[in-house]
Amino acid sequence: MTARVLDGQALAARMQEEIKPEVAEFVKTHGRPPGLGIVLVGNDPASQVYVRHKVKAGAEVGFRVDLERLPESATLNDVLGLVERLNQSPVHDGILVQAPLPKGMGAGAQQRVFDTIAADKDVDGFGAESVGLLSQNRPKLVACTPAGIIELLEREGIQIAGKHAVVIGRSDIVGKPMALLLLHRDATVTICHSRTPDLAAVCRLADILVAAVGRPGLVTPSFVKPGATVIDVGMNRVTDPAVASTLFPAGHPRLATFQSKGSLLVGDVHPGVAEVAGAMTPVPGGVGPLTITMLMKNTLRAARARTT
Ligand code: NAP
Repeated sequence: MTARVLDGQALAARMQEEIKPEVAEFVKTHGRPPGLGIVLVGNDPASQVYVRHKVKAGAEVGFRVDLERLPESATLNDVLGLVERLNQSPVHDGILVQAPLPKGMGAGAQQRVFDTIAADKDVDGFGAESVGLLSQNRPKLVACTPAGIIELLEREGIQIAGKHAVVIGRSDIVGKPMALLLLHRDATVTICHSRTPDLAAVCRLADILVAAVGRPGLVTPSFVKPGATVIDVGMNRVTDPAVASTLFPAGHPRLATFQSKGSLLVGDVHPGVAEVAGAMTPVPGGVGPLTITMLMKNTLRAARARTT
């Protein structure tokens, strides 16, 4: 058996097309586009790539997107001041501060910044108010990656209610909101983490298995109940040939890519899982593109809520 591929890239493209006329309608009614303010602090290379994709996606659907950059040397007060200015701005409906902030800002800086973003503009859904509302099942703006996964499951006709979902990972940005969203759709949810004994046995109970860990190929076929749906959130850049060769057999086209580029983007799920799972997201082209599209949806939702 080979798992059905859950094509997040294709769904993201469809959703972008759905959003465009809604943005045009918003412009017609309000005389301005929805506005997104993105704050990027410092020079983290991965953050710069993510932000570039977000700016591009926003422009494509017709948003006003303003990228506000602060230097690596910026203080926490500089960031908070910028967020306060965007909170007051009438033309910005959504605010996102790209994580991680420079380490020098200290532990707790990131959450303090997230909590300073006005709740009605918190399009990443990381602030305390957004998280509290989600936990009480009266969500407003929900973290984009788990929200995108729910959108994918629902549009692919994968039943959630009454199913056993296992989420590996308990981060504030993926694992925990993912578990809550599944719970609120009547799944029975188990959350696993680095201290979970016999992880494979727990995962084998899952009808829906979500891996949000950050370990290349952690989820092997022995973790998967035959026919289960497997969602791979992991985005891991592999540079070690030994690791690449544990993921792909000799002669596999992705090994050739690895050899020519010197690195490869892989998920937390071993490709061999496709022989056991019923449906599975690829990496790349699965969850990643949906995350950005959900950011667009959240910004449009925030713009509408602020103007009605
Ligand atoms: P994170 O904050 O580092 O959390 C990782 C979680 O995995 C933690 O809860 C950790 O457990 C758990 N874990 C680590 N090693 C484990 C093991 N051997 N067995 C079981 N659990 C283990 O990471 P994150 O921010 O949630 O991101 C997870 C992955 O998703 C990363 O690869 C990231 O790049 C990717 N990601 C992708 C997108 C996207 O759009 N596709 C968005 C966000 C993140 P403890 O809590 O016990 O430490």
